[in-house]
Amino acid sequence: MQDAKGPDQFFQHALANGEISLPMCEDCGAYHFFPRVLCPHCYGAAISWRQSSGKGRVYTTTVVRRKPEHGGDYNVCMVELDEGVRMMSRVEGIAPGEVAIDMAVTAFVGEAEGVPVVLFKPSEG
Ligand SMILES: [Zn+2]
Repeated sequence: MQDAKGPDQFFQHALANGEISLPMCEDCGAYHFFPRVLCPHCYGAAISWRQSSGKGRVYTTTVVRRKPEHGGDYNVCMVELDEGVRMMSRVEGIAPGEVAIDMAVTAFVGEAEGVPVVLFKPSEG
């Protein structure tokens, strides 16, 4: 019998409630992302969900060029969260070209094409 509520659904369901939850392995204590049924570090199956601190740093960043009539340039980045997992996302609230590697960022739940997604903004202070 198939589990109707796989790890991706759990993640998306939490996002829809405004929460960024990360899968953590009870066996080795490591976080991972994307959500998986088995821990990618030790292959343990005892995965539990913890709310993310939402804090991280820009690991890589790039500017995707787009004509102004199509919405203008935008940023695509990889953020490494304090929990040690990396997420493809984008940083909003500043010009795409001003997103810098190692910049401190904070996650929030935004929306892309009608689906809740994890986005980032520059951390305050
Ligand atoms: Zn593990």
